[in-house]
Amino acid sequence: MAAPKVAVVGAGVIGLSTALCIAETCPSCSVTVLSDQFSPNTTSDVAAGMLIPHTYPGTPIHVQKQWFKETFTYLFAISNSAEASEAGIHLVSGWQVFKNTPKEELPFWSDIVLGFRPMSEAELQKFPQHRFGQAFTTLKCDCPPYLLWLEKRLKATGVQMHTRKVADLWELHSEYDVVVNCTGIGAHQLVGDEKLFPIRGQVLKVHAPWVKNFIRDGDGLTYIYPGIHRVTLGGTREKESWSLSPDPGTTEDIFDRCCSLEPSLRGAQDIKVKVGLRPSRWCVRLQREVLSQGGVKLPVVHNYGHGSGGFSVHRGTAKEAARLVGECIAALQGSSSRAKL
Ligand code: FAD
Repeated sequence: MAAPKVAVVGAGVIGLSTALCIAETCPSCSVTVLSDQFSPNTTSDVAAGMLIPHTYPGTPIHVQKQWFKETFTYLFAISNSAEASEAGIHLVSGWQVFKNTPKEELPFWSDIVLGFRPMSEAELQKFPQHRFGQAFTTLKCDCPPYLLWLEKRLKATGVQMHTRKVADLWELHSEYDVVVNCTGIGAHQLVGDEKLFPIRGQVLKVHAPWVKNFIRDGDGLTYIYPGIHRVTLGGTREKESWSLSPDPGTTEDIFDRCCSLEPSLRGAQDIKVKVGLRPSRWCVRLQREVLSQGGVKLPVVHNYGHGSGGFSVHRGTAKEAARLVGECIAALQGSSSRAKL
């Protein structure tokens, strides 16, 4: 069989990282990324990019933990290299604070982030409305720089990137041997996945360079995440809302909530408002499927539905998707050598 041709549909953090893992694990493959939008116009560009996992109820915890660990280890190495500033990856320390002690005092990811511990009484004095808190150090991706860094890595490994809207995965069957579906919320229409729904998120990106520590209110609705150049203030979680227009009332509400956690933000400048639709699902869809029409087959690997936690697990799910692509190629090679016999 000639060099297998693989198309990855989607150029958010999931598509780009999956294409990179395929190129790394299958150097003989010819990989192409097809997407109707690239950075800075994807949901991934809007994200805060903090590595604090969201829990997928339909995925076993040990699997989620493995995805997070692989992602953390990968980005930790980048943060520790000369590439860190270009890739937009940095360590950030801070606090997750709760008004009431949570049921689960030790989240499943507490031994992967660095220095996880309960906050001291002295630290809690900063948050007079909160009774309990956890301090730790994690990683943050500044999303547009990270996506551009991934694109640069892909180009350097010979991956092609084309702007194209795919109306039906089957349209790719004559050009590619394997198709990988990383279309985020786009999969709702592309493959008619009714289990996939948007959770709208509005955030503010502000200039407040004196804010150095992250603060996350325990329910995760209000957060302050300092990046290299801007601080992300959030947020909202609006289930089934497809609106991409910023809401001025929501902007004011987010700003007030964040100022009550960190009063110095009243001095923040240059407030930019962004909206994104989290591709939410009971579990990430990470599986093989074989499409078939008139005896012709097209192997597909799905990797979408990362909801509120795509950055936190992207490298782990990309590695698994690349492994599934390897299985598809092995099956194709097996059937082409059988055909020659
Ligand atoms: P996308 O980034 O939406 O990429 C999908 C790609 O597919 C796009 O390029 C699109 O153009 C393309 N596409 C879609 N349909 C088609 C088609 N038919 N043909 C061709 N191309 C197509 N996660 C974290 O881990 N930490 C955080 O701090 C965090 N903060 C967030 C804050 C907000 C406000 C939001 C909205 C999300 C946040 N997330 C966070 C979640 C994270 O952003 C998502 O899980 C992640 O971006 C999903 O990536 P994706 O590549 O699947 O989707």
